[in-house]
Amino acid sequence: MANNIRVTVWHEFRHEKTNAAVRAIYPHGMHNAIAAGLRAAGGMTVRTATLDEPEHGLSADVLANTDVLTWWGHTAHQEVRDDIVERVQQRVWAGMGLLVLHSGHFSKIFKRLMGTSCDLKWRQADDREIIWFTAPGHPIVQGLTDHIIIPREEMYGEHFDIPEPDETVLISSFSGGEVFRSGVTYRRGGGKIFYFRPGHETYPAYHQKEVLQIIANAVRWAAPVENLAPQTYGNRQPL
Ligand code: ZN
Repeated sequence: MANNIRVTVWHEFRHEKTNAAVRAIYPHGMHNAIAAGLRAAGGMTVRTATLDEPEHGLSADVLANTDVLTWWGHTAHQEVRDDIVERVQQRVWAGMGLLVLHSGHFSKIFKRLMGTSCDLKWRQADDREIIWFTAPGHPIVQGLTDHIIIPREEMYGEHFDIPEPDETVLISSFSGGEVFRSGVTYRRGGGKIFYFRPGHETYPAYHQKEVLQIIANAVRWAAPVENLAPQTYGNRQPL
C-alpha cells in the first residue's frame, strides 16, 4: 500500500473558469497544482475528478479504486449530488482516507461526517499566516521544522465549529490577531480524515512547497491499513 497509494484529487473547478485572477494563479486548475505536488512526492498514483464531470468524476468504480480522496469546494457545495456524498461517506467508513481542504469545511461530505455546522470566521485582506506545529513527530509534519509561513492568505478564525479533534496537528496565527486549528484529524469508521486550512483560490498556497509537503504527508498518513478486516455487526452467539 505505502508504495502505491491511489489518490483522487477532487476539485469543484469553477473559480478558474470565471475569475481571471484565479486562472492566472492556477492556469490548469487548483486540482492539477495539488496533483503535481503529490506526483512529485512519489509513491502515489494520482488522478483528478471535477464537479462537472459525469457523477462528479466519482463513480462507484473510481471510489472503489481510491485509497485517499482530497476535496476542495467553495461556491458550488449545494450542486454536489446527495447520492454521491452518500457514496463517499460509505467509502470513508470502509477505510478510504479523506483530506478536506480550505473552504471544503462547508462541503456536504465534511459537514455530514462531522455532524456540526463547521462554521468559522473569515476575512480576505492579505493576512500573513503562520502555521505552527502542535504535534511534533506526527507523520503529517514529517520533514518540516516547526512552522510554515504563508506570506498572504485568507484568514480563518476561531471558533471553528467542529467536534473536538482526535489530534490537533497545526494551529495558525494571522496578522490580524486571530488563531485557527488549521490541521485536525478524525477517524470515522475505518477511514482517517484530515482537515487542512490553506488554499484560498486567489492566493498561491498550492504552489508553496511546504503546503504541498503537508498534503503529501497527510495522504500517506490517511492511506488505509492494508487488509483492513471487514467488520461484522448485529446479533451473534457467545464465543
Ligand atoms: Zn477561501
